[in-house]
Amino acid sequence: MHSVETFLDLQSEATEWRRYLHQNPELDYRLHKTAQFVAGKLASFGINHIETGIAETGIVALIQGEGGDGPTIGLRADMDALPILEASNKPWSSTMPGKMHACGHDGHTAMLLGAAKYLAKSRNFKGSVALIFQPAEEDGQGGQRMIQEGIMDRFGISQVFGMHNRPGIEVGKFATCDGPNAAALDEFDVVVKGRGGHAAQPHRTIDPIVVAAQIIVGLQTLVSRNTDPIESLVISVTKLNAGTAHNIIPECAELAGTVRTLLPSLRDFAERQIEACARGIAQGLGAEIEFRHRRLEPIMFNHTEATNLAIEAARALVGSEAVSDKMRPSMGSEDFGYMLEARPGAYIRIGNGPTASLHHPAYDFNDEALPYGIGYWVNLVETALAV
Ligand SMILES: [Zn+2]
Ligand SMILES: [Zn+2]
Repeated sequence: MHSVETFLDLQSEATEWRRYLHQNPELDYRLHKTAQFVAGKLASFGINHIETGIAETGIVALIQGEGGDGPTIGLRADMDALPILEASNKPWSSTMPGKMHACGHDGHTAMLLGAAKYLAKSRNFKGSVALIFQPAEEDGQGGQRMIQEGIMDRFGISQVFGMHNRPGIEVGKFATCDGPNAAALDEFDVVVKGRGGHAAQPHRTIDPIVVAAQIIVGLQTLVSRNTDPIESLVISVTKLNAGTAHNIIPECAELAGTVRTLLPSLRDFAERQIEACARGIAQGLGAEIEFRHRRLEPIMFNHTEATNLAIEAARALVGSEAVSDKMRPSMGSEDFGYMLEARPGAYIRIGNGPTASLHHPAYDFNDEALPYGIGYWVNLVETALAV
């Protein structure tokens, strides 16, 4: 196990990679330049088992240890950027207007490349490491597609680990927790069908705008009056569309929203009750609804044994105090949850210092964090696959 000093040598090279990726952001599955860059680097480290084109532009590369037979663990980095116009004013800002690495996936990719370089040389572990470079995390589907394309079985992965930077945590600190780490993500759409007409004669209409307004208010009680206050559920109505003129009551109103929760039972409750509440209110007021609900990302659930390995690896790097094992879960979502459904594993947050928040136009990954992320991956491998 190493302290961070071991990895300071890699910092300037990893910074160059990170800034190259930052200048050349690509979106969703269309990561052709990014994937080419990653595969080229992996090959230059002497890694000869590299499979590209998984989930379009994803990559899995295998490094075998020299410590004998053992299991294979997966380390995952996401590679995609966001459709945001960058305003960081850094010399290495995006060269593609309207696209930027505003979630730090450039840093995640550079950290896993740094670990790959180190591990390909040292090989001081048993079994194998599968380096997973994933597209389309922001879309919430890339992780699922890599699973559907069979990476866990094909590469014999028995445990899988992820890492994400977090602004607001100091550089050199880590945070995680056992159990749920990030929320499930579901979306719903409601179309309220009333009866349109002249705004001066509301009694001849069924006003879908008034019904939609009642539904929005009604949905607030699902959290405030029907959910255990100790448990977490978010229901946010985020879209509302209706009407074309001051003097017309429209036929329809449409609303849509998002649901986040850390508990499977609350997920089921929300799916059932949002529909029941909307339908009941609409019927009471003479209208009808069409309802659609989609389950998108699963709850991201850290497994106990793997979480303990992650904490041990991080603490060996930066000391016990610098690693919180009691992080509060996030109500945001992460498609690494699909990988943690497929295999046991753990996800950890790495401090990005006092930068702008994720998805903000002024955000930039903090290059000072690179040796910490590289060191975490190496320590994790040498802990989980100790010779
Ligand atoms: Zn993001
Ligand atoms: Zn992200």
